[in-house]
Amino acid sequence: MKLVVLGSGTSVPHPQRAAAAFWLETAAGHVLLDCGADSAHRMAQERVDWPNLDVIWISHLHLDHCGGLASLLFGLKWAPQTQTRQKPLRIVGCQGIGNLLRAIDESNNYELFAQPFPIELQEVSANESFEPMPGIVAQTFSTPHTRESLAIRLTDNDGTSLVYTSDTGYSEELATFARGAELLILECSFWRQTPTPKHLELEGAMRLAQLAEPRRLILTHLYREWDGVELESKAGELWPGKIIAAFDGLRVETETTDP
Ligand SMILES: [Zn+2]
Ligand SMILES: [Zn+2]
Repeated sequence: MKLVVLGSGTSVPHPQRAAAAFWLETAAGHVLLDCGADSAHRMAQERVDWPNLDVIWISHLHLDHCGGLASLLFGLKWAPQTQTRQKPLRIVGCQGIGNLLRAIDESNNYELFAQPFPIELQEVSANESFEPMPGIVAQTFSTPHTRESLAIRLTDNDGTSLVYTSDTGYSEELATFARGAELLILECSFWRQTPTPKHLELEGAMRLAQLAEPRRLILTHLYREWDGVELESKAGELWPGKIIAAFDGLRVETETTDP
């Protein structure tokens, strides 16, 4: 799997960090993990193969994670690159994503579901297992963030796993869910004194990493208080594993778990 960080930020405008979005290339196809407001243009900037996107995953209904979905569909509908596309685009997400999209769609008769290619929309709940596309198995976990918020674990045919927590508070069950992942994309909203138990500060994030023991850890969803702070070295004081501070444009390739 190959990951491109499109947005390492939050809902708060930041000059270098777009809202949450991650481009994932697998042998089975392309996945967009969350779709913050800037996603469409960030995909173009990073020159990923967006006309061939197979699956969009939406973790929860906060707009820094799904605010770009309607405008991405609007763009795909009219893009010259997608006019001859035939394979479906699957949108799989938390409960309520269908309602949200339909409400936007109907507010101005955008016809976002009338694309040159089929759109398949599926809502999932916690503790579900499904196949977003042949060759990938996905599992979900309810995170302590919002009622509908979900973490996802994607495993390919080689047994390589990627876990994306999206927004979450501290949860040891989440660490169990993420255990042994090749790549764990974990939120780390605040350095210290988190103003809310619905997000992680560094200490909680690293305690979670210690329990989950991923081969590599990417810390993301970074608020402005991280500006100018050496995130990787601060995190390294709390957990000795391989830590990568996310930035927009970061590329990470997983190694196969085969010998
Ligand atoms: Zn968020
Ligand atoms: Zn959120």
